[in-house]
Amino acid sequence: MARMRIATVEYRRCEPCALDYTGPHCPRCRHPTSVLTPRLTRSLLIVVDPACPDFVREERWRCRSCEALYVPPAIAPIVARAARCTCGATLFDRAALADIFAGATTPLAQAQRVVAAIKRRKRCRTCGAALAPPCWCPICAATQLATSSILPLRSTWVYVPTGNAATELTDRIADQTPDPRDPTPDDDAIATDPTADMASDSPAPARED
Ligand SMILES: [Zn+2]
Ligand SMILES: [Zn+2]
Ligand SMILES: [Zn+2]
Repeated sequence: MARMRIATVEYRRCEPCALDYTGPHCPRCRHPTSVLTPRLTRSLLIVVDPACPDFVREERWRCRSCEALYVPPAIAPIVARAARCTCGATLFDRAALADIFAGATTPLAQAQRVVAAIKRRKRCRTCGAALAPPCWCPICAATQLATSSILPLRSTWVYVPTGNAATELTDRIADQTPDPRDPTPDDDAIATDPTADMASDSPAPARED
């Protein structure tokens, strides 16, 4: 059954014209959405209807270096890279990788395990090269000013509009009258999500999103 709720909705901000929108390109200047198009969030009243979803809930990570929100990277290629040094030596064999991922059920937990394993190994035993955790954030990776090998403490969950229509955000927030009976926003700061992973080897305090 459909119901109204206040949710953290993700939208994009067009870099050439600063329009806030959702969809594959900016509806005003048609600049295409890319991995570098900033992802922003705001609380919006949305209709949640499992039978006909207008929004899907998706996982994001927030970069602790540049603060950008990004889609968590696929872990498999990162592991493939981490398993082999640039000199060609195998760093982690099949058994070691199975050990690294034992019990890690979320992408964030898996990424934390990869980082911990690389930190423990420190150097390639064949060529002696120092091993560094991968850069997780695509924005940091693209700008090359900084890399972000630091993982977020927890995942951020956002609602993303389904469909492929380029829509100006103001069209979606027209007539936003919050329902006082459903005042609970999605609050990632309340880590009740079972997929939120508080475990971290960093002592930094949790960020509020
Ligand atoms: Zn634009
Ligand atoms: Zn970053
Ligand atoms: Zn090596």
